[in-house]
Amino acid sequence: MTGVGVDDPLAWLEELLVAQSSRVFIKALAGRVIRYGELDVESRRMATALRRHGVKAGDRVTVQVEKSPEVIFLYIACLRLGAIFMPLNTAYTDAELAYFVTDAEPRLLFVAPEREAAIVKLCDSLSLIGDQAPTVLSMDTAAGDLMSARAFMPLRGDTVAALVYTSGTTGRSKGAMLTRANLAANSRNLVKAWAFTADDVLLHALPLFHVHGLFIAIDTVLASGSTLFWLPKFELDAVFDALPQSTAMMGVPTFYTRLLGDSRLTREVTSGLRLFISGSAPLRAQTHREFEARTGHQILERYGMTETLVNSSNPYRGARRPGSVGRPLADAEIRIEESTGSIEVKGENVFAGYFRAVEKTHDSFRSDGFFITGDLGYFDSEGYLYIVGRDKDLIITGGFNVYPVEIEEAINALPGVTESAVIGIPHPDFGEGVVAVVVAQAIAPGGSLLTEEAVLDALATGIAKFKLPKRVLFVDDLPRNAMGKVRKQLLRTLHASLFNSGI
Ligand code: AMP
Repeated sequence: MTGVGVDDPLAWLEELLVAQSSRVFIKALAGRVIRYGELDVESRRMATALRRHGVKAGDRVTVQVEKSPEVIFLYIACLRLGAIFMPLNTAYTDAELAYFVTDAEPRLLFVAPEREAAIVKLCDSLSLIGDQAPTVLSMDTAAGDLMSARAFMPLRGDTVAALVYTSGTTGRSKGAMLTRANLAANSRNLVKAWAFTADDVLLHALPLFHVHGLFIAIDTVLASGSTLFWLPKFELDAVFDALPQSTAMMGVPTFYTRLLGDSRLTREVTSGLRLFISGSAPLRAQTHREFEARTGHQILERYGMTETLVNSSNPYRGARRPGSVGRPLADAEIRIEESTGSIEVKGENVFAGYFRAVEKTHDSFRSDGFFITGDLGYFDSEGYLYIVGRDKDLIITGGFNVYPVEIEEAINALPGVTESAVIGIPHPDFGEGVVAVVVAQAIAPGGSLLTEEAVLDALATGIAKFKLPKRVLFVDDLPRNAMGKVRKQLLRTLHASLFNSGI
């Protein structure tokens, strides 16, 4: 399976690290610079340490630490060995970590130094198949010698490179197996679609435990030999300092709404950038328009997911449509059978299946190889894709389908509304009742407070009666996960008995 003569889709990476060794890979505000040569050396050092701990091709290497360049060294070290890199959200609790360790059975588990003792104990208490608890290491103990043998092992495209657990809002989260071919196809597509060159500096304020910050951002930088402008997290002061030193930014929609909420967002401060990209959650059409009005930049929205990396993108050159996630990328085929329906994807970007979950994998693919994304959408006449929600968020009320996005867009357009989430709640007569959860400005334009009645009256002029919310609830904030996605399942649970009180 491995060895000389294998056509490794990531073979370019080793060449790049050597050829670009004096160029800057990461720069940060404090003046810290990491050159490609250092990435080469440190990832080789890390690979040697992994091998010393018994890591072989196919072994899982799990990491749950705060964002740091060492996480990238570890990722590249895993690619060198054919080990499977498995990043975990730092927000996961010990009980959740226990699930991931039991499911994935990693050989090594990296945690922050202060958690090492507790996690060793936790892992010892787990009953694992073969009784093989992972070796727990704190992130800074991995120093070793440079790997002296082959710097990169050539590995086939179908070798699993990463295991990324989906956010799993229904049921237990599953590990998506991403192959070398998936990663290579994704970065190749994105460099081309977004015109990245070695002269680019990408502002990176995303976390490293999700595909967005990792394979969509980091791999695009690596594949173009460009530079990352490193921010530990999205913090407005730091972002405004970093913007004039960057040429492109990738973010989730909340980055853009937060930028818009700050008076420092101007044409001048963004004049050196050529591209702003948004993904991971829906970008409101209004945010797109406001950002253009303030900066002159049209945010480029794209659509991706853990299992497929990026599927579609608005064009770099050509019309970027507010509210649309653009057209399929070169390697991705996207189909929707009905006029509005299930979005299905096939291509080199699509993952190899869920780890040790044959049945779930089987159920997620059509017999002709298309992956069922779980998203619903439609194409317009020019082939631009619009997402109307997850299929599990579809509301069926009195037998009629209501797509939340349509109602949310209508509510968001009302004066005084900041944002909204529309959900279905069990209803004794209708099966589900439409409920709008709305964040309103403290004082609506005109000086009055926005009321339930006012929202419903305003909607009634443009929306069919069966789709109208039966209740409008006002809240201070919508609950979101780390990637800025609204946690609709949590909202449904919170309001589950709204229509059943007294029954
Ligand atoms: P994750 O696997 O955590 O990246 O979540 C993937 C899901 O995020 C997709 O299946 C979509 O539901 C959603 N998503 C990603 N990008 C967009 C986008 N641009 N617009 C709307 N939803 C998106």
